[in-house]
Amino acid sequence: LTERGKRIPLDNSPLQIFVKAKKKINDIFGEIEEYVEDTVHYMHEIEKDEKIVNSEKVKNTEEYVSKVHSIRDVLQRDHMKVAFFGRTSNGKSSVINAMLGDKILPSGIGHTTNCFLQVEGAPSDEPYLVLEGSDEHCAVESVGQLAHALCKEKLNESSLVKVYWPKNRCLLLRDDVVFVDSPGVDVTPNLDEWIDKHCLDADVFVLVANAESTLMVTEKNFFHKVSTKLSKPNIFILNNRWDASASEPEFLDQVRKQHQERAVDFLVKELKVCTPKEAEERIFFISAKEMLQVRMAEGKSNSISLPEGFQTRHFEFEDFEKKFEECISKSAVKTKFEQHSQRGKYITNELRDMLEGILSDALKLKEDKLCQRKELNDKINYTEQQLMVVTQEMKKKIHSMVEDVEQRVSKALSE
Ligand code: GDP
Repeated sequence: LTERGKRIPLDNSPLQIFVKAKKKINDIFGEIEEYVEDTVHYMHEIEKDEKIVNSEKVKNTEEYVSKVHSIRDVLQRDHMKVAFFGRTSNGKSSVINAMLGDKILPSGIGHTTNCFLQVEGAPSDEPYLVLEGSDEHCAVESVGQLAHALCKEKLNESSLVKVYWPKNRCLLLRDDVVFVDSPGVDVTPNLDEWIDKHCLDADVFVLVANAESTLMVTEKNFFHKVSTKLSKPNIFILNNRWDASASEPEFLDQVRKQHQERAVDFLVKELKVCTPKEAEERIFFISAKEMLQVRMAEGKSNSISLPEGFQTRHFEFEDFEKKFEECISKSAVKTKFEQHSQRGKYITNELRDMLEGILSDALKLKEDKLCQRKELNDKINYTEQQLMVVTQEMKKKIHSMVEDVEQRVSKALSE
């Protein structure tokens, strides 16, 4: 159970694919950092020996240290990002709150999101918000206060307010999912600026549509624009307010079929971002309001009464969350880590080649020295032999000289 008495599912969430991959790549880059630093240290040690390494090689290796440092910085901050779009009051904030299991973002009449709001996990126990261009942590006690703080500031519709919510209150935030809520696409947005500023690094987009009406041109236009700037964005379509269908059960299947066909056509034929089979896994009929109510009531004793068909909508919301988690973690692993792992491979290969080069230069040098020593030894041996020959001859000569002198002396004596 969390601090607030809510149920925490076992850690078999598909988000763990990203969490584990992030840990692994961070550990690997930790090792690469040690390897590069050791190499630089070693190069400095042998730099004095001009024949093996020169200062240019040392400088090149030092550059890898700063490269690895900056990759590690990026990797530690990497997260999965999901951005929500749709017309005002379709229920974007409600969907985010339902997924987070708490009323974090203000929703409802008078609380129209008038700028981009990002919710991300923070290690602190208390929530706070940070306005764009500022480092100041403003404490937020309640949703009402957050809404008030947002209304008070004259914010540009493209500006970003970051809400830091304690990680220990929500699994999705603990697992590095960052949520972005947007102003309604109907509020004459500057689409290019929105996309450049907030969408290019998003792993998943969620279009929150209103099941009581059909997809609007403004909503479609936004995604047409997104898919010109990003290749094959991952888009989910939530037909929200599906609880309203409970009041007209006779049209339920017919309306659902119609929405489903149009949404599939939009993803497959218009945007061309997925196949018809994939599209089936991207379209859901839900009620964010009910789901939020249920999750807020979890761990509390008072029961809530919900309209007809609630169970089905509940399961569909959970199904959406599962598919969403699978999609975002796989996509984020690919977009966030693929390039870095290639880079890591490149750096370690370069260093290995360089160290192998140093080793072969060092071996060559050793061989040369051995050769020189052998030549010197040969010379010494030759001189020793010569010396021996000369000594032998000298000995012989001296011997015969002594004999000769002896003979002469004894001859002289006898005479
Ligand atoms: P946003 O402007 O898209 O962020 O929409 P909000 O989340 O602020 O929702 C606008 C209003 O619609 C609020 O009063 C919500 O309570 C209500 N609402 C959101 N989702 C649902 C839903 O599934 N069913 C019903 N009946 N009302 C909803």
